[in-house]
Amino acid sequence: MTEQETPLQQCPQCSAALEHIPGYVTWCEPCGWNANPQSVNRKRSLLDRLNKRLGPKTSERLLDSLHDDSAKSQRAWFHFGAGVFGALLLAGDAYLFYKGIRTLWGVHSPGTFFVGSLCLIFGLLLCPRLHRWKHRGLVRSEYPGLYRLLDEMAARMQARPVDTIQMGTEFNAFFTESDFTRKKLIYIGIPLFSILSLQEKIFVLAHEMAHNANRDMSRNWLNRYGQSTLSFIYDTIMPREYMREMLGPFFYLQKYVRQLVGALVFGVWYVYGLLGFRESQYAEYAADDLAYRISGTSAALGALEKPHYHETFYLTLERIARYGYNNDLFGELRKVMQQMPDKEQRRIRRMLDTEMARLDATHPPTSLRQRHVAALPNVELAMALTPEHIAELEREFAELERKAQRDLLERYRAYYL
Ligand SMILES: [Zn+2]
Ligand SMILES: [Zn+2]
Repeated sequence: MTEQETPLQQCPQCSAALEHIPGYVTWCEPCGWNANPQSVNRKRSLLDRLNKRLGPKTSERLLDSLHDDSAKSQRAWFHFGAGVFGALLLAGDAYLFYKGIRTLWGVHSPGTFFVGSLCLIFGLLLCPRLHRWKHRGLVRSEYPGLYRLLDEMAARMQARPVDTIQMGTEFNAFFTESDFTRKKLIYIGIPLFSILSLQEKIFVLAHEMAHNANRDMSRNWLNRYGQSTLSFIYDTIMPREYMREMLGPFFYLQKYVRQLVGALVFGVWYVYGLLGFRESQYAEYAADDLAYRISGTSAALGALEKPHYHETFYLTLERIARYGYNNDLFGELRKVMQQMPDKEQRRIRRMLDTEMARLDATHPPTSLRQRHVAALPNVELAMALTPEHIAELEREFAELERKAQRDLLERYRAYYL
């Protein structure tokens, strides 16, 4: 065993003795050190910083007033404000283009050429990034069970059916829409799905389908444009350390100026983020509300927690890629989940309750989402699947797991071993 692989004996924070349970995250129970390893590793986005500043109390208040009339009208106004803000930004971008072309049209001096080109370059940089996906999705005829499940879900929610299901090796799931063709896609992260029961899978899929039914993507288009543009401007403006040698003494001057402008952009973005915050949190609760009516209450509560086991998944991936003989990654992961020691369960609870951990910056804290669902009338699974459909789904997921497993292990070994 090399030095690096020797498990820590003592907590670096409070010096308490650390219990190391192979296959699970090592963390310190008395002081909470490393209870949430991801929160340390994650590069803080602007949205993460907004969440941090607002604090858990704001999220709690938002949940408590979810259905109050005054909160509803406030939310509508804020959403409108964010849209206007995005529209102004877009108009500014269009103006830059117009100005650039006008200036370059009758160009007669290097000066006007420079100004015109600058306008065009900035106009291009601030253009809306229209996205479309490049990967081919699952073929309908090869995964009829899965597509049928989603079609039935769409019909129940009176949503347009999704065009494509895409599988991948991320530990998550999402819904997205192409800005060009308005085609709809649901992404299924196989590692996450491998630890979900069928009903929990239905909850996660229904949650994504609910974003489709509620038209959250297109409703928030201007808002998203504004967010990503401001975050792009901010990232571009903030000084970089690698310029230190290139610029010599000018480094400090430009660093100071850029930090100042960066702070200004951050201020603008912060106000903007506040405008969009309520609506985006509300969209998640609304999606949970629709989804739990299909999957049932207990499946929803379980499924909400599962994304927080990604560390457990990565540890299992590492172990199987390095030492596994049979390559049964997901079988092994399910075993690890079944034999979960109490200490690991306490870690997850601690993360959710005391740190208000969330899926990502756009989602409300998971414990609040659970509280929201738990407070709604208790329901059972509403989608009765025939035994044949269940068997079909099991076959298809097994096939997807085989593909994902091969992919994950190959990539891990090529990269680290
Ligand atoms: Zn400690
Ligand atoms: Zn969501």
